[in-house]
Amino acid sequence: MQVFLAEHSGFCFGVRRAVKMALAAHNSNDDVCTYGELIHNPQIVQKLEEEGISVCKDIEHIKGKKVVIRSHGIAREDLELLQTAGNKIIDATCPYVKRAQELVSSVKDLPLLIMGDPDHPEVQALLSYGGKQTKIIQPGEKPEFQNWETLCIVSQTTQKLSNLQELVAQVLPHTLELRVFNTICNATTQRQEAALQLAKNSDLMIVIGGKHSANTRVLQ
Ligand code: SF4
Repeated sequence: MQVFLAEHSGFCFGVRRAVKMALAAHNSNDDVCTYGELIHNPQIVQKLEEEGISVCKDIEHIKGKKVVIRSHGIAREDLELLQTAGNKIIDATCPYVKRAQELVSSVKDLPLLIMGDPDHPEVQALLSYGGKQTKIIQPGEKPEFQNWETLCIVSQTTQKLSNLQELVAQVLPHTLELRVFNTICNATTQRQEAALQLAKNSDLMIVIGGKHSANTRVLQ
């Protein structure tokens, strides 16, 4: 039996960066926690806990700590709450997720569709940066057609490009001006393409990853 490892397997840049930032914050002997799980990988989260970096979920009780913001970001209101409670914020939000948040914020007065999984924390956080006309649309879901004068679209960073392309093709005929921000991250695309290539030449393909990781789930 021959076993092949897919190109680009392993942690992406954003995850490596977040873990490094959390460990560096801990080295300074401060009381460090992450707000929610830092990354969607239970083994690494457990390892961090063993190092003394706990996962805090109850935002009301996080006070006077060093709080590391998880790689897939948190809601704008939660960030403000943590800041006003006197915590020191170490923002480990992946720069690609941050860019998506900033783009959502920059067009929040326009109709905006965020394409992604509505239950995923990254998508929920993105929504918090939007306005009254911001909506989440799931991949493959049919948009409620309106005749938009202007419509903006951003995507969850770990979505398939083909899902974004499908959405664009659906709304384009109903829109005078369509602004599409390609917020799908390169690491995601590379992993998807490598997995597809390997699957074509293999009898069996096993995907190893966190069950709640959007990057892992999209490879199924
Ligand atoms: S946006 Fe891309 S690089 Fe950043 S954490 Fe997600 S998968 Fe990793």
